[in-house]
Amino acid sequence: MTPRRVAAVIGFPVGHSLSPAIHQAAFDAAGVPWTYAAFEVLPGCGGAAVEAMRTLGLGGLSVTMPHKEDVADAVDRLDPAAVALRSANTVSWDGDELVGSSTDGDGFVASLTEAGCSVDGASVAVLGAGGAARSVIDALGRAGARSIAVINRTPAAAEVAAALAPVAHVAPVEVLAGVDVVVNATSVGMGADASLPCSPELLSGRQVVADLVYHPLRTPLLAAAERVGAGTVDGLGMLVHQAALQQLAWLGETPDPAVMRAAAERALAARR
Ligand code: NAP
Repeated sequence: MTPRRVAAVIGFPVGHSLSPAIHQAAFDAAGVPWTYAAFEVLPGCGGAAVEAMRTLGLGGLSVTMPHKEDVADAVDRLDPAAVALRSANTVSWDGDELVGSSTDGDGFVASLTEAGCSVDGASVAVLGAGGAARSVIDALGRAGARSIAVINRTPAAAEVAAALAPVAHVAPVEVLAGVDVVVNATSVGMGADASLPCSPELLSGRQVVADLVYHPLRTPLLAAAERVGAGTVDGLGMLVHQAALQQLAWLGETPDPAVMRAAAERALAARR
């Protein structure tokens, strides 16, 4: 069999993805003879892309919108996070089987750990209840958070997200003032949007504030958090660490997150 030496991201659209820059930089730095590609795959064709992975002998897939659910249905088995979320952002081989996993949430927890923020025993508030929020809530629950307050514009989505962790519950935004860690998992603050997902008056210097948005890197929320003396964690940490966990799944080796982050920063700077 031809050695599997090609990995790729599938998505629609996919041109904006930082994954090729991040993964190729890590392969090159570690001397791994793999090539990373980006494939624009039409909505509804995620399952066909998994079959193509078998046919073409691809070594691994990164999966982005809108294919995460279809890919979870198409692989041979799922890791526990992917089962809970019914969504997979990674496909890797285990012998002849294709395994779907979800590295986003664990990548987020790793980014907090890297910043010196321990989740174990912490009270956390998550703003948002979309796909990213759900992966974060699931991982925070497994990482030992004491409580997770889920705050979302649409209450029904908050209920679904809070069901992912036994310590999670739907809460009003005011609870944010009393927690150790605040997470913005909404898209508020992205791009030219200068708005905040909560009132800055709810933030304090004893908190860590993390934003999943990474474009811009210093979001309006992180700027407000800095002004009150809170610790801050930007969204690139999650992006880098979920990618590092993907390479661990494909190669059995953890790449250097610093190399991945530098590549992501260069790619973002080139866009500007
Ligand atoms: P999604 O599934 O579309 O969910 C969006 C969430 O934002 C929902 O909870 C939505 O609330 C909320 N929201 C949107 N606009 C809002 C507004 N004006 N006011 C209040 N709430 C609003 O998106 P997603 O995939 O979860 O992604 C969310 C963000 O995380 C995006 O900015 C994305 O770029 C970022 N992200 C980052 C990483 C990373 O690696 N750093 C990974 C994944 C995602 P409703 O339920 O009320 O609509």
